[in-house]
Amino acid sequence: MTAVQESAPALGDRLSVWPAATTEPRPGELAVAGVPLAEIADRFGTPVYVLAEDEVRERCRMYRSVFPDAEVLYAAKAFLCRAMIHWVGEEGLGLDVCSAGELELAVTTGFPADRIVLHGNAKSPQDLATALRLGVGRVVIDSPSEIARLAAAVGPGGHQKVMVRVVPGVSAGGHEKIRTGTEDQKFGLSISDGYAQHAIARILDQPQLELTGLHCHLGSQITSDKPYLAAVRRMVGLMSRLYGQHGLVLPELDLGGGHGIAYRPGEPSLDLTRLARKLRTELHAACTAAGLPVPRLIIEPGRAVVGPAGVALYRVLAVKRGGERVFVAVDGGMSDNPRPALYGVRYAPRLVGRSGSATSARVTVVGRHCEAGDVLAADAELPDDVRPGDLLAVPVAGAYHLSMASGYNLVGRPPVAAVRDGHARLLVRRESLDDIRSRDVGL
Ligand SMILES: *Cc1c(COP(=O)(O)O)cnc(C)c1O
Repeated sequence: MTAVQESAPALGDRLSVWPAATTEPRPGELAVAGVPLAEIADRFGTPVYVLAEDEVRERCRMYRSVFPDAEVLYAAKAFLCRAMIHWVGEEGLGLDVCSAGELELAVTTGFPADRIVLHGNAKSPQDLATALRLGVGRVVIDSPSEIARLAAAVGPGGHQKVMVRVVPGVSAGGHEKIRTGTEDQKFGLSISDGYAQHAIARILDQPQLELTGLHCHLGSQITSDKPYLAAVRRMVGLMSRLYGQHGLVLPELDLGGGHGIAYRPGEPSLDLTRLARKLRTELHAACTAAGLPVPRLIIEPGRAVVGPAGVALYRVLAVKRGGERVFVAVDGGMSDNPRPALYGVRYAPRLVGRSGSATSARVTVVGRHCEAGDVLAADAELPDDVRPGDLLAVPVAGAYHLSMASGYNLVGRPPVAAVRDGHARLLVRRESLDDIRSRDVGL
């Protein structure tokens, strides 16, 4: 991410986690790609999510230039809409999906199905049927029972490329709930208990399934390259055993995503240039030692592509002073951003649209929902004259906010507006009561 941050305007460290095209046209005003955030709030209402199109595109390009020999798949679950599908496709990335819904939206938007990989620890019959009907590039097998189901669905004369999700036994990730490379969690097939080897032998018995490689995904919000290097060694170790047992040479190795980003100024992010260099060295060394050809690398970043490109805008509805803490309540919350409640993550919101007082206060920014845990930003620093009617902007809001949004309290999910070259346009409209009522079909 360094390259992106270095090109940001010199607005000081406090804007380091904002999209590169963030400027301060007047004191207290913030604009992204030339569009003042206050103008976006006026035009689309609040809460609203703003996506800097060029930031997404630039991050896709950065991945392709840092990993020129690898296949880069954008992990759709971080955030997906039709515009996003176009952007990543135009920038030359493939797509990683984990449901019939994500897959069908991508393909009906014109994304080539052969550049899509289907994941999922529990794929429904509909997921598999949709994947085969649309001609998905690869299916990542995640459980033994999936092998027979998939082989039967493909049929004796058919053909489907598959990978196998392996548990490398590497612990990494920003929070326990997003660690997926360790033994005691629901994803993948373990190397250490022999499940992975057993599943691979069964796949090789199915002539209509073509095993192209191994897959692992260690978790999310990883800021060190060490776990990836450890995973490479484990995966090549398994590839070497498979070569010994079956004479199998796998052309691909998918190391998943999980690349960590900074949510607040000063926080670490994964250095991708360094990761790419070290991965290349480690992979070559391990393959040479094992006498194997070097497989083509696949990576699947989600958060690092779209997270820093998004900004969430809220209107302050109430400020409660007194007691130990100051609570600043806004018109969104855990229904559009469940991450603080799920993982205890921290954000650094800013007052926008006016310049606040010079003295700041530590406040707790909370949402409007009926839970005490509906906290958007604990220990946030805001001007101490923050008041109802103010606008708050939360940076790094592009990933795992709206894709995890819920219908809690029937407030309706916020819209998404894209900004580029001084213009804002609506990508996804606000969810209305009519939308909600239209699903409610019985009495
Ligand atoms: C979630 C996920 C990703 C993307 O993770 P990020 O942390 O957003 O980079 C990639 N691959 C798989 C299989 C995933 O489940």
